[in-house]
Amino acid sequence: MTPPFIAGTTDKEDVRRARKWLKKPEEWYDQSVVQNFEKGFADWNGSECAVSLMGGRVALSAVIEALGLEAGDEVIIPGYTCVVVPNSFHYAGVKVVYADIELDTYGPDVEAFASAVTDRTSAILIHHLYGLVCRDYEALLDLADQHNLYVIEDCTHATGAKYRGERVGNLGDAAIYSSEHSKCFSTVQGGIAVTNDNRIAEGLRKYAEEAVFPRGRRVERLLHTFILDYYTQSDPQRWWWRELYQFRYGEEKLISTTDLEKRGEKPPHYGQRMPAPLADIGLGQLEKLESYNRRRRQNAGSWTTWCNENGYRSPTIIQDSEPVWLRYPVIVDPEEKKDVSWTRGELGVDAGVWFRTNIHPVEQAVDGCPRADEAVSRCINLPTLMK
Ligand SMILES: *Cc1c(COP(=O)(O)O)cnc(C)c1O
Repeated sequence: MTPPFIAGTTDKEDVRRARKWLKKPEEWYDQSVVQNFEKGFADWNGSECAVSLMGGRVALSAVIEALGLEAGDEVIIPGYTCVVVPNSFHYAGVKVVYADIELDTYGPDVEAFASAVTDRTSAILIHHLYGLVCRDYEALLDLADQHNLYVIEDCTHATGAKYRGERVGNLGDAAIYSSEHSKCFSTVQGGIAVTNDNRIAEGLRKYAEEAVFPRGRRVERLLHTFILDYYTQSDPQRWWWRELYQFRYGEEKLISTTDLEKRGEKPPHYGQRMPAPLADIGLGQLEKLESYNRRRRQNAGSWTTWCNENGYRSPTIIQDSEPVWLRYPVIVDPEEKKDVSWTRGELGVDAGVWFRTNIHPVEQAVDGCPRADEAVSRCINLPTLMK
């Protein structure tokens, strides 16, 4: 039996969209399509301004620039994150200080963050990991208020999650989202930065206007990758697609974090904006996002039942929040994380192991983050989307 869970959010209609765009390269840089998507996302998210770029990491770079963070500034971020997050700060010369997380929602621990504040701290970055609204959300906003710090929300796992009826990403100064294919919705690669502040919005728009679009061959490859992704998940019998792709591009797939980025260096062509075909696919995805998120919530409910019946601690849904459950995180024995093949037999799904290190996927330990270390050795995640 093939597992009933899939990772992706794309369907045949999206593939038709991608094919349609492949046929009209002369419209790949049509700005009105991009603006439609940005307006659509901002409206959907309840935000004043959204700009679309080639990755959540690039969206973060745009936010850093719009906030005017620079050398001499410090930012506090969770010691349980993706390497591309500290990278965006490093590229701008901003010093990154890691602070611990809590294990209820894998979010920033407010006490750890408070202890890390210095005279040089200008901002904190908080995240809503696995689509869970972070436990100390309000306390972190208060902390930032007290010390006059910017709050950047990493919503790359939590597009659509709500707190007190509003989508996350609207309570801080700016937020980033990702449409990389393993996230809540897919344009293969892509990211969005949002804000409700006019001055920051101006900075974001300036960043996007000065950014270049990916070149034609890259756009074509992104579209082919999008189609390949769909067939890989939904119709693996079409193996010839992979062969054709490999023949054409010399690689099996598109790598989202390059070796240069793993070494902390800025890759060439970093900082591009989203071209029309991806923006249009994003707009189509947006229409379906709510229904995908609904399915994720339902499936998360079954995992909670499974946790309760089998003595695993289920994650915490904080009061007045509505998570989106990009994945369902579970704490297991370190041995059970080292080799997760048991989940296939026991649960009928392949578990994900997204953070084998504190600064995924780089082998880098962080000091003074014992709970993050525990999550690294013990947290696996279960898929939440059914075919
Ligand atoms: C994926 C991810 C990002 C970056 O998003 P990209 O679109 O891949 O650049 C940032 N933070 C976290 C926690 C992520 O998982």
